[in-house]
Amino acid sequence: MVVTVDGPAGSGKSSASRLLAQELGFAFLDTGALYRAIALAARRDGMLEAGEAELAAWLKQVPLEAKSQGGRFVVFLDGQDVEPFIRNEAISQLASRLSALAPVREHLLGLQRAAGRAGDLVAEGRDMGTVVFPGAEAKFFLTAGESERAHRRWLELTQSGQQVDMADVLADLRLRDQRDSQRSLSPLRPAEDAVVLDTTPLSLSEVVAALAQKVRERRAGAPR
Ligand code: C5P
Repeated sequence: MVVTVDGPAGSGKSSASRLLAQELGFAFLDTGALYRAIALAARRDGMLEAGEAELAAWLKQVPLEAKSQGGRFVVFLDGQDVEPFIRNEAISQLASRLSALAPVREHLLGLQRAAGRAGDLVAEGRDMGTVVFPGAEAKFFLTAGESERAHRRWLELTQSGQQVDMADVLADLRLRDQRDSQRSLSPLRPAEDAVVLDTTPLSLSEVVAALAQKVRERRAGAPR
């Protein structure tokens, strides 16, 4: 079974999806980490201003992998776990820019779908329910008010030791949301059959409980 969770930055989808996967005993795939890893590699290899044909050729030789480890897919670049290098605002913005380009989206499609064939999966991102797993058995779209999302993102960054200003975090989040939802390829939007949940007033455990409940209903064959 594939469960998809989409939504804008700071909607709580990463934390909720990770815990939901644990609760269900499913693997967890954070697709934003794949886009972030490509941004990291493109910056390193001087490909940030490359044209689409050049980018497509370069992508073929980028040693990017998503390996299932301990219940989640870990993203490796050159055999190294990218996690310590991708959670900052510079990479967020580069990932958002590059993710609007066709060669990047096409390149990652196969990798994401392969994760879905490997077993039960909770996949989190922007286009999981609309493009990558249109036939998923349970789809969610999480939202939250803008200032709440900026606050969550600020907390995440400061808790990881980064010095960030709330006003900058809010401006970055707005820019990224606008780009992600207005691009022509796989824009951020709920799938028609997604359950939309506003997480603004909810705690993380309340969100996870609501999602888990819906998945159980779907598994038991309840109508959409
Ligand atoms: O989810 P996260 O904030 O880590 O994603 C980083 C960026 O990657 C997003 O702003 C978005 O531009 C892009 N992305 C995407 N499609 C996905 C996941 C992420 O375009 N499925």
